[in-house]
Amino acid sequence: MVSSAGEELGGWSHWHSPDRPLRLGVSTCLLGENVRFDSGHARDGFVVDTLGQWFEYVPVCPEVEIGMGTPRPSIRLVDEGQGMRLVAPSTGEDFTERMTGFAEEKVTELMELDLDGYILKKSSPSCGLERIRVYTSGMPARRNASGVFAAKLMERWPALPVEEEGRLNDHGLRENFIERVFGRNRWRGLVAGGLTRRRLIEFHTAHKLLLRAHNETAYRRLGKLVGSVGTIEDGELFRAYEIEFQAALSTKPTNKKHVNVLQHAMGYLKTLLDPVEKREILAAVEEYRQGLLPLVVPLTLLRYNIRRHGVEYLAGQLYFDPHPRELMLRNHA
Ligand code: SF4
Repeated sequence: MVSSAGEELGGWSHWHSPDRPLRLGVSTCLLGENVRFDSGHARDGFVVDTLGQWFEYVPVCPEVEIGMGTPRPSIRLVDEGQGMRLVAPSTGEDFTERMTGFAEEKVTELMELDLDGYILKKSSPSCGLERIRVYTSGMPARRNASGVFAAKLMERWPALPVEEEGRLNDHGLRENFIERVFGRNRWRGLVAGGLTRRRLIEFHTAHKLLLRAHNETAYRRLGKLVGSVGTIEDGELFRAYEIEFQAALSTKPTNKKHVNVLQHAMGYLKTLLDPVEKREILAAVEEYRQGLLPLVVPLTLLRYNIRRHGVEYLAGQLYFDPHPRELMLRNHA
């Protein structure tokens, strides 16, 4: 994993331990391995060259791992009224049972590895996340399924951040996925270090602004959970917090929610800044609101002033650096 520059505040690197690498499951063909049905690959530059510098990958090719070999006949999802099947139209061979049995066992194995997320190959009847074609005789194909392996992964492990490489081309979905992955890795660190109510409060406090940018309602529910001293047993509290925390982060932040958080942060600085400094930050927030500037601009101004004035509460907020700046996830207007 490469090291990150400029992490002055209580950002992601303060919560990260090299002993707990960020680990993602990935469809093997995305890494450039020749495992596709035609002996080709589907190498994804962002997955390999950019994310590969930060993440450790656990590659899985379900079709090769059930013994289909390369090259192999292409397969598809078929529904003739007796449930969905995974078949090779050229030979009629049915791979449904083999694939579901494999998926069941593989997901158990992956859960033991405690992944932080998973990147799936789009449009695959085995790996695709959504909108996979289902064929029925005499009818146009409908696009409303997940691949067989992907469906089992999501059913057994609903809290795991999962995306497909095609959707990662969308800047908002990309940032949201990476934010969830880093969030899950921090949670794993908290659990590994021994979870106590005091440490849970520290964790929640550091995530306050980040959670508000994702989902204000969930942020409030999490606050109530953390404050529920004596009314809920510790194990139950930690389980409930983890589920609600992941659900909160899976709501994509909007421009409006970011503006609310930036204005809230400004409130802590208002007595410390002179009128010119205040105007400069407010103008950057307004230009971000109008889509004229990327989020990184008002964030950089705020970070500078938080550091300069030593505003402890804001300095500890992961919102300002939830993932490495080198990924440039907030640099798009
Ligand atoms: S999409 Fe999945 S099953 Fe198909 S080649 Fe890639 S990893 Fe293998």
